[in-house]
Amino acid sequence: MKFERQKVPQPVYGTVNIYRIGDTLIDTGHVTEDSRMAMADALDSGGLADVERVVLTHPHIDHVGGSQTLPELAALPHVVFEGVPSIITDFRRYLKRVHEEIQERSIGLAADRSAIDESYFPIDDYAEDDIQIGRVVGDGDTVRLGEYSCEVIHTPGHSRQHMALWHADSKTMFSADLVSTNGHFMYGPLYGDVGSYIDSLQRLRTYDANYLVPGHGPVISDPTKRIEEALGKTRRAMSGIKTAVETTNDRIAAGQLAREVFEATEETIGFLTLVVCEYLEYLEDENEVVISYAEDGIFAASS
Ligand SMILES: [Zn+2]
Repeated sequence: MKFERQKVPQPVYGTVNIYRIGDTLIDTGHVTEDSRMAMADALDSGGLADVERVVLTHPHIDHVGGSQTLPELAALPHVVFEGVPSIITDFRRYLKRVHEEIQERSIGLAADRSAIDESYFPIDDYAEDDIQIGRVVGDGDTVRLGEYSCEVIHTPGHSRQHMALWHADSKTMFSADLVSTNGHFMYGPLYGDVGSYIDSLQRLRTYDANYLVPGHGPVISDPTKRIEEALGKTRRAMSGIKTAVETTNDRIAAGQLAREVFEATEETIGFLTLVVCEYLEYLEDENEVVISYAEDGIFAASS
């Protein structure tokens, strides 16, 4: 299968991939100015000239940016998963809720959140009202990418509205943000879920893909190994958190768990505490821990 990968700048975490397959564009970068300029240049200079349709893998700010900031992209018909239209056509409200979740989970941390805060609200003028929803798809539907027919695979975990796209003939899986570059569970605001993430990785493994084509980083040519690694890291993180909670006499702060289990530094503690909170919510659902929300932080204790 032939596709063109372009890397688009995004704040804090490196670059995000967009893919061109014939007349189809997968994802549209971040909303920041750097990203918007890169997308605008590609539309002008030919890299994205004559693109006629957009497929969004999931509604995160680094994957829908061009749709929100470039009227010519907003006007193209968008193919999106169930639940995505209400998010991207009311994007400022969604971002406000994301911001609230991040603030709430950062209570008690001395971490500097300003870079993340700024990256979430770089502009006021989102094209949310102008985005054309061409088609809403669900699990098992067929989507055309250029000349290729692909199957929609619902892969929640990083985002409840996350889809992978499977091209059976070439055994190519556009896996977006499900399998991260470092193999760790990647926090996704509001709709992340560790349990669904494990289920989605296990489902992805059954396809025996030759390639995973991710939302960040280079194409993955050893999918089974990378999926196994991701599952292993998740299991280890889970048992590390459980053990740390069980061996604490009283209660332990989410930030402290990030330091002990993920070796968080001052630079990474903010993001890794969000990750810990996702694990804690999963463990609470499994009756393994009890979470308490206090004025000076989020804490976990044995159940
Ligand atoms: Zn994402």
